[in-house]
Amino acid sequence: MMDSQYTPVIFGTLTQPNPSDRQLKRGDAERLHTDELAMFLARATMRWRVHLCVDVGYEDGFNQHSHLIIGVLTDELDAWRRNRDRFDPRRAWRWHIVKHWDDYDPNHEGDCFSYVTKKHIHLLDSHLRCPQRGKCRRGGCSVK
Ligand SMILES: [Zn+2]
Repeated sequence: MMDSQYTPVIFGTLTQPNPSDRQLKRGDAERLHTDELAMFLARATMRWRVHLCVDVGYEDGFNQHSHLIIGVLTDELDAWRRNRDRFDPRRAWRWHIVKHWDDYDPNHEGDCFSYVTKKHIHLLDSHLRCPQRGKCRRGGCSVK
């Protein structure tokens, strides 16, 4: 479950073309996907200037995709609403294929959290991101 200081705001699904035979043979298709995911989340937090808590469920193989539940620090929700449009998920995702980018609905697929974290590989477990480059002024920021 998401950290209680955070409010889930977005359900997203990021997909990509099938990995090449070479990638599958090398076995690094998943790492490429997760590296790109880390870049995507770094861009999101820099653009929005808010703290994020993200759960990611991943599906491997020929239909690689990730479902994301993105939470924003509840104290920073107003800032997030103001900055929301500064981040374009289609531009930020390497492969530009964004199947969902919806307001979070706890009942998505029955139960959004169990859909993301149990029906898929729970890749990032309430992963926290801080928007500050240097020392964070926010008291209690536990990121880094
Ligand atoms: Zn911070």
